[in-house]
Amino acid sequence: MTSRDRGAAAVARDLARIVGDVHVREPVPAELLQDATETRGVRGEALAAVFPADAEETAAVVRWAGAQGVPVVPRGGGTGYSGGAVPDAGSIVLATDRLTGPPTIVPEAWRGTFGAGTVTADLQRRCLEAGLFFAPNPGSAESCRIGGNVATNAGGPRSFRHGSTRAWLSGLEVVLPGGELVRLGGDARKSVETLDLLGLLCGSEGTLGVITEVTLRLQPAPEVALPVLAVYPDRDTGLAAIAAAMACGVVPTALEFLDGGALRAAAQTFPGGLPEAAAFAVIAEALGPADIAALEAAALAEALADDALKVVRPDTRARVEALWAWRDGVSLAVVAARGGKLSEDVVVPAERLGEALAAVDRLGAEHGVPVTSWGHAGDGILHATVLVDRNDAAALAGARDAAHAMLGIAADLGGALSGEHGIGSVKLAGAAALDPTVLATQRAVKDALDPRGTMNPGRKLPPA
Ligand SMILES: Cc1cc2nc3c(=O)[nH]c(=O)nc-3n(C[C@H](O)[C@H](O)[C@H](O)COP(=O)(O)OP(=O)(O)OC[C@H]3O[C@@H](n4cnc5c(N)ncnc54)[C@H](O)[C@@H]3O)c2cc1C
Repeated sequence: MTSRDRGAAAVARDLARIVGDVHVREPVPAELLQDATETRGVRGEALAAVFPADAEETAAVVRWAGAQGVPVVPRGGGTGYSGGAVPDAGSIVLATDRLTGPPTIVPEAWRGTFGAGTVTADLQRRCLEAGLFFAPNPGSAESCRIGGNVATNAGGPRSFRHGSTRAWLSGLEVVLPGGELVRLGGDARKSVETLDLLGLLCGSEGTLGVITEVTLRLQPAPEVALPVLAVYPDRDTGLAAIAAAMACGVVPTALEFLDGGALRAAAQTFPGGLPEAAAFAVIAEALGPADIAALEAAALAEALADDALKVVRPDTRARVEALWAWRDGVSLAVVAARGGKLSEDVVVPAERLGEALAAVDRLGAEHGVPVTSWGHAGDGILHATVLVDRNDAAALAGARDAAHAMLGIAADLGGALSGEHGIGSVKLAGAAALDPTVLATQRAVKDALDPRGTMNPGRKLPPA
């Protein structure tokens, strides 16, 4: 009889022998059975949650799970938007909270090595203290963990110029699905030594192993960040401003947008207030040495000024931080409007953003549900969102249909189902329509690395 058959108490006893009683939770607290898809009513079940202290204990847990045939669901901060960390009944949650050993930062080589459980904002602060900078900045940075950022290849506003997490990665320590502890890449900034397993693990959403340590290729901390926010009376004017910013000769660090619905939801908390007629917003940012960033910010402000109702240029560090804190809060403000939301992160070629936004509005009207979009305009990523009362089952079903239909925008406009949040469990149905040969190749890779199929099964790749 396997531990899975013997039930949760037996599983918890086995795990306690590896990590100690106090580092196993059974029954599993509700907060470990959900992620940010909780706003769309997604919740899971698990036999137990285990908190290993280090890579060796992580490997021992994974070996035990493989031998017992118990699925392992790696978990970072639980801020994912695709259900990747939400366990299915019969699995265990492997929480990385304790994988936070002291970082090694080498300022002269622009490098840092961090435990996978390090909270992203703490990592960013440690880097800044050492005069260094880690650009990927998801709005969840105060809660998500660097292991989760690698597992989702997370981005954020500043990934427009500086790339998503993969661009910052030189090494990983990983427990493979068979329980072997390996290092991929390392301290050198570049390597083409063997097949790119580092790239394969990055964005694998916990399906190919548990990341225990991350080595990052950092950059010197910029002297200043100079964002510019402009608001417009309608979408077309805002889209023209985005095109002007793209054509002005400056590569902005970030190029963000909010449509009318997102703006209405968040306008009340905007520092200093916004004009009532504002129906579209664009944020661009210049980052770097003070003199250069000032010139770039001026060019961006000029590009965004045409037909703008208001242009805001925060000029102190506190005001800059307040603007970005407001931007990070947009997601929660949208949830507050109805109590829940279903957000997709469809990505399209940047010049087709306007068509994608129009398609979201059209689908909202066709399905009779309120919709809104915001996101990373420069990268063509739109958080296409259906607002819903998550306690209303009928409304939730209608919202799911509308959200699923939005995934079609990717295929229609030559984009992809996800630009940064991943597929997890909630976008599997959309992924089933991808090229069958590509899917079969991907499944072959998964089967080769995880022949028992116990590493976060049923995520990322639709079943054959
Ligand atoms: C308000 C808000 C704003 C956000 N903004 C952005 C944004 O701008 N850009 C962006 O890209 N994302 C954004 N996100 C989504 C989310 O924060 C990111 O996907 C983040 O990288 C998830 O990290 P996490 O530690 O919370 O991972 P979790 O949610 O815990 O897990 C996500 C996936 O990674 C796997 N995983 C986690 N840790 C490990 C590990 N150590 N080893 C192997 N697999 C692991 C899990 O199994 C799961 O499949 C946002 C989320 C919220 C709530």
